[in-house]
Amino acid sequence: MRKLLLLLTSVFLLAGCLRANPFTEDEKRNVESDTETVIADGTSEPAATQDANEQTEPAETSEETETLPEADPASIDLSYEPSEGGRIMILMYHNIGPEEEEWTRTPDKFREDLQILYDKGYRPIKLTDYARGHIDVPAGMTPYVITFDDARENNFRYLEDGRIDPDCAVGVLMDFAETHEGFFPHASFFVNGDIPFRVEGEEEQKVAFLLENGMDIGNHTVGHEDFSDLTAEELQETIGRQAAYLDSLTPDDYEINTIALPFGSRPDDDSLTPYLKDGSYDGFSYHHIAILNVGWDPAYSPFHTKFDAEYIPRIRASEMHVDEVGIRNWIDYFDNNPEERYISDGDPRIVSAPADWEEVMQVPEGLVLNLYELAE
Ligand SMILES: [Zn+2]
Repeated sequence: MRKLLLLLTSVFLLAGCLRANPFTEDEKRNVESDTETVIADGTSEPAATQDANEQTEPAETSEETETLPEADPASIDLSYEPSEGGRIMILMYHNIGPEEEEWTRTPDKFREDLQILYDKGYRPIKLTDYARGHIDVPAGMTPYVITFDDARENNFRYLEDGRIDPDCAVGVLMDFAETHEGFFPHASFFVNGDIPFRVEGEEEQKVAFLLENGMDIGNHTVGHEDFSDLTAEELQETIGRQAAYLDSLTPDDYEINTIALPFGSRPDDDSLTPYLKDGSYDGFSYHHIAILNVGWDPAYSPFHTKFDAEYIPRIRASEMHVDEVGIRNWIDYFDNNPEERYISDGDPRIVSAPADWEEVMQVPEGLVLNLYELAE
């Protein structure tokens, strides 16, 4: 017999109420009381399994209202042992270039990273979807996030004939998406200073291409300053001026709402930390939903009590001088410790986890927590 204990009021969301990003930042901070919880045993048969290859394209849908069937925990296929409190890797790349260096990945190594992750069931998602807890990858898959800092030319380059260089970061991602079903080229490029990707006159075309293809740009400040001893005014100038510039390159409805801290640095004076998230310069206000560090660990799931969108760790996507905590080390780690990895249940509206994760699960209002007993 299927045991479903409804701990709180309604389990089913009305389809008409569904939004792709169903909660605001403020709502997300204050969620525990309204979380809906279902406990099912591990042996219940899925009422309706979901096609593992069916994935909506988040880039296009995040602002739209969708009409979907009700979110039904009984539809979750527990044979995947979904674990949506598990860790998520946020990868940090810098250059793509001809030789491996500490801050440079070769195109072949980058392709190899993508292939290894793909083969092991990892799929890239947008950073903003991670930060908002909108995770839409097929059942059994693990989301991860790709980031590039500094927006160098080798990240996005056109050849003389107008094609995208297949050996630049964007070229590798687009080719990989072309040849790998279910792979969307989601990546965030953090731009410092003027002229993303460093070829004057191409910046608007390149930014438009990125946004059209499910990629994003984020703030990396005007001058790549070390934040440790900047004043409140200096912090807001280097962040706010860059935000205003990047805003001028993007459509009106696009928000520059993520920042990668230069050198991963933070103000020594804690009272200035709020300026990393909110501030304004010369009449332009900025607001960040994700603040990214440098190094060293996999990030917490947005559904874990330790998740902190203002303190998101990244993993260096390199094999040189990574002190055993680089991309390949962590891939091996999750091979050896699969129970720590985020495993999707395939439904972005339902957050499934083994029952013994209950204490660390924190699910935003509007999503359904689905705890279940692991089968023996
Ligand atoms: Zn940088």
